[in-house]
Amino acid sequence: MSTRGKFKRFVAYSLLTLLAILVYQYLVVIADPTQFAIKDGDPGIHIERGFFVDTSQQLSHQQVLENGEILHSRSFDDIPWGFEQQTYWLRLKLHNSTSQPTRVVVHFANPMLEQISIYHSDNPEYPLAVDITELGWQAESLMAKQRAFPSYEVLLAGHSQQQLVVRIATEGIAKTPIAIYWFDDFANLMQVTFLIWGSFVGILVVMSLYNLVLYSGLKDSIYLVYIGYSLSILAMLGVVIGFGHYIWPEAIIRSLRMNIVSVNLSVVIFTLSFALLFFNSLKRPSRIIRLCISYVPFLILLAIVSLFLPEYIAAPIFFLSMVVLYPLIIIFLYQQFRLNHKWARYYLVSWVPIIIGGALQPMVLTGVIKGSFLMNHSLMIGVMCEVVLMAMALASRMQYKKERALFNATHDYGTRLPNTTLLENRIAELVSEQQEFSVCLIEVADFPSLQPYISSTETDDLIVMISRAINLELVSHQGFFELEKTSQGIHKLVKVRDGLFAALIVSQQSAQQDEDYRRIQAALSQGAQVSELYIALSAYFGISSYSAHDDEKKLDVMKQAQQALDQAKREITAIARYQSNHAYSLAQRLSLAANLQQALRDNKLQLYHQPQIDLQTGLVDGSEVLLRWHHDEFGNIPPDEFISIAEDTGIVNELTLWVIERACQHLEILRQQGYEDHNVSVNISGKDIAEPGFLHNVRGILARYKISLNNLTFELTESVTVSDFHLLKQTLDELTRMGINIAIDDYGTGYSSLFYISQLPFTELKIDKSFVVDLDVSERHRTIVKTTIEMAKSLDLRLVAEGIESASIEALLREQDCHIAQGYYYQRPIPFSQYLTWLKTWRQD
Ligand code: C2E
Ligand code: CA
Ligand code: CA
Repeated sequence: MSTRGKFKRFVAYSLLTLLAILVYQYLVVIADPTQFAIKDGDPGIHIERGFFVDTSQQLSHQQVLENGEILHSRSFDDIPWGFEQQTYWLRLKLHNSTSQPTRVVVHFANPMLEQISIYHSDNPEYPLAVDITELGWQAESLMAKQRAFPSYEVLLAGHSQQQLVVRIATEGIAKTPIAIYWFDDFANLMQVTFLIWGSFVGILVVMSLYNLVLYSGLKDSIYLVYIGYSLSILAMLGVVIGFGHYIWPEAIIRSLRMNIVSVNLSVVIFTLSFALLFFNSLKRPSRIIRLCISYVPFLILLAIVSLFLPEYIAAPIFFLSMVVLYPLIIIFLYQQFRLNHKWARYYLVSWVPIIIGGALQPMVLTGVIKGSFLMNHSLMIGVMCEVVLMAMALASRMQYKKERALFNATHDYGTRLPNTTLLENRIAELVSEQQEFSVCLIEVADFPSLQPYISSTETDDLIVMISRAINLELVSHQGFFELEKTSQGIHKLVKVRDGLFAALIVSQQSAQQDEDYRRIQAALSQGAQVSELYIALSAYFGISSYSAHDDEKKLDVMKQAQQALDQAKREITAIARYQSNHAYSLAQRLSLAANLQQALRDNKLQLYHQPQIDLQTGLVDGSEVLLRWHHDEFGNIPPDEFISIAEDTGIVNELTLWVIERACQHLEILRQQGYEDHNVSVNISGKDIAEPGFLHNVRGILARYKISLNNLTFELTESVTVSDFHLLKQTLDELTRMGINIAIDDYGTGYSSLFYISQLPFTELKIDKSFVVDLDVSERHRTIVKTTIEMAKSLDLRLVAEGIESASIEALLREQDCHIAQGYYYQRPIPFSQYLTWLKTWRQD
């Protein structure tokens, strides 16, 4: 640890120790001022006690004295305090056995009593000649002190004797500890009590203000609930314990006292709401949470109704409603702590003092344990600890939320795996440190084609499984960069999208070694189990390096890795590395685009045809037209490459319209030569769909030719279909209305779902050649092709297979009822003039 860290720790511990000393001192002071109450046998004073319970509640002072029972000497501990309505009569005889005058105070430690009538006679010979003093709730114009500390002061002259007869009547809890103090000791008791009350009110007010500040900043309503809780418990204890008399006007405390059940209920409502909000339960409620939530309005209603009910009716209803609520809360909290125990522990702990404090009070009241000063204030002390712990719990909740937000931003929602944001952050760090690294994209072969057959949760499970298998290989290898370290372990892999992962390689040497990729490949070939399905897996790797000398931007490295990956897939080799000299530079691409545009205008492009064979009849069904460009300098440029340049430079639409026009010319010629049913398929780019004038231009071209539009098909690759669904659907619907057939091209390489396909007006599905070329050797591909054919049937789509290179593959496809076949086996793409000749020879076969 650094010196600074040590110093910080030292300061923290010193402060903590200081705080502990203060708290200890505080506890020593408040320990128990009631211990100074005068006990029997204490020198200087002699006390005699007696009592009588008047169940009729009718008797007068005189009648009680005449009854005589109250004259028997008995300890107040024996008074059968009850909850039912009755009246208690107590007798106290005080005898000063010294010659000095002295003052004592009788304390009735229950500020909730309605009526305390004190009949004081200073001559025991004439007990009926008395001074009457009224204390308790119903007494008018008392001082705060008399209400908060119902007490009666007696002045005893030397060797004198005084008698008090006290009548206690209440509707509420009658239990009243009665103690007699020397005047000074009672003053001390009051002081200590003020100390506790002051701490209590201070802590609750400060905490409420603090949470108000938090609320104004964070706008999370839980802070308001916290304040509501603090204030309602302040109101409740202010009345029950009595400090309210010092801080509120008498009218307020009187109405709180009259509606104490409603006040209690509001404490419960806030407690419950706090618990529900604390765990964000309102967002995804379980059954128990829904029960708890629906209990809140019920409690509110009960609180309102209780305003109009007398306490002895409202209180039992309150207790009954608690009997239902407690198990609910316990189950709820138990569930939440199991899920969230890490960050919710302060909240858990916050319940402990309140439960202890809350349990002690009734135990004292029911006489299970003997009351003491601390016991009487246990609830208050418990609440003090609780509100502090609750504030701490809120702080740790905020911390947790922050961490979770960060986690969510850098992790995939469904699988909880790290995502590209994390990767990009790490790439940015490496770039700023001028480190060399490579991006390795790992794509699980044919993953999209699995998706229609497994549910989305199964997809997530599968992705997690695959990611674990790959990560395990990466973790043991130093060359791969550690992206994240959590309690769950080290992550060296992020999920880019379903079936596509990425890793960073920090040693250039590793980036070049195929061995590592083979190990991953081997791990994947172990396969994965998804519900009933066992899937053998393989992967493609696309790798691109970044070195600090490259003045390329960091984002390019991802793009380049993607290009390398595309190349690997195209060439059906496992690994491809991005080679900058192979790709065209931006300047080259621009000049190529200009060349292409010129070639188009000079009519130097050629449109080749490749036949499509009806597998049932063996006849030619139609042809797909494919562009060819012979560049004066670079020779033949593959269509994939110049099409992508055309797309990037915005001239693809011109290109497509040219192809459509040419295709229409060819269709007309085919018609004239007697091939009335011959179909021609044209490849359309996704960029064409986005072009505003596209439909209009197509209409213009078609109008110029005498052709049946049923013989024209537009092929749209699956990967483009995911962009703007609404526009896509509109355009395709309009083309369909014009009579043009729409095919989904390269099916299996994109990410379209069954639902998605069924929403668009496709009439034909072209399964990608990568699944077909190795159909005779790949069992996997056989399964995929088979299920695709079944799916096409169920959606009533014509199924075209491309990439048929041998008779055995044709046989396999025919077996599976594939409609149309296209491939080198029948004919490579050829110029139109040659195609016309070929058509004749095919017919003669
Ligand atoms: P595509 O639409 O998938 O076209 C089929 C490709 O498979 C053609 O490649 C074709 O020559 C090739 N192919 C046909 N039979 C076999 C076979 O048995 N084995 C193998 N290995 N390959 C076979 P090509 O002509 O190189 O075209 C490549 C891609 O360029 C096309 O893929 C298409 O996406 C694009 N393209 C070609 N012409 C046009 C066009 O006029 N417009 C647009 N937008 N794209 C075009
Ligand atoms: Ca095509
Ligand atoms: Ca294809």
